[in-house]
Amino acid sequence: MTEYVWFDGQLRDVKSVAVHPFTHALHYGSGVFEGIRAYRTDRGTAIFRLHDHLERFHRSAAAYGLAIPYDVRTLADAIFSTLNANAFSDGYIRPLAFFGEKGISLAPRFHCPTHVLVALKPLQGSLIGATGGARVRISPWRKTPSGCMPSTVKACGHYMNSILALQDAVAHGCDEALLLNDRGEIAEGSGENLFIVRGGEIKTNDASADILEGITRDTVIALARDRGIPARIGPLTIDEVRNADEAFFTGTAAEVMPIARIDDRRFAAARPVTDVLYDAYAAAVRAQDAKNAAWCTFLRERNVA
Ligand code: PMP
Repeated sequence: MTEYVWFDGQLRDVKSVAVHPFTHALHYGSGVFEGIRAYRTDRGTAIFRLHDHLERFHRSAAAYGLAIPYDVRTLADAIFSTLNANAFSDGYIRPLAFFGEKGISLAPRFHCPTHVLVALKPLQGSLIGATGGARVRISPWRKTPSGCMPSTVKACGHYMNSILALQDAVAHGCDEALLLNDRGEIAEGSGENLFIVRGGEIKTNDASADILEGITRDTVIALARDRGIPARIGPLTIDEVRNADEAFFTGTAAEVMPIARIDDRRFAAARPVTDVLYDAYAAAVRAQDAKNAAWCTFLRERNVA
């Protein structure tokens, strides 16, 4: 943890932040969050797709009637000041909004105040620390159907499903889980979207497969199309994944993560398309992609839309 966080409108020493024991979110997971990255670039610290992350943060909160009393501009400023206060230039940014104290009712929007936190965490490279590609287990846990919890909403409690899946995968010697949806199609990783490569094309699924449509997913689709790599969107079956030439995960924390194997299906160590997209992503987040320069918000220039 860094020394300072932003909490409810102010920069605070992390040691001075405490929550009430009856904080609603502590009991029920009733909060929403974002995972954003800052990267060191030639023009100073850049935050990748900041505006898109903060817009999703607001959309997630709205789904639960959680009123965030700060607009996107104010939240962006909160992130800038937290980065500055900690002299933080490279790592993970975690905005979190949650229902606070006031009873145990399951209709917190009518009773509970909202708290908002911005915290930072050092993070270099991919959160999936797998050199040579991730070892992936198809999870015995199915992805929560969107008819139960909307997959496009990034809410704290939704992650109990990911926790079951990832803990099971790690217990089986794997780095990541791949969850199927309740129809048996591929959904996504515990915190990443899945892409396959076949015949020089990439393919991934969409929200109709009960996934969070990640911002990295969107970035990688754009980067592929910029390079003449066709990107198809549609349901993914286990068979398609097993027959793919390459497979990789995408996510803000995971970045572009090559997959070495899924259960007993081992992928070739040569991954030409994944490598191109891995490099393209690494360049884009470091503001080395002139075509997509608008994705980076520079701390010095504060050019958030
Ligand atoms: N799916 C899930 C379940 C996730 O938690 C994440 C990480 N936010 C993703 C996909 C990838 O989303 P993004 O690229 O926006 O980080």
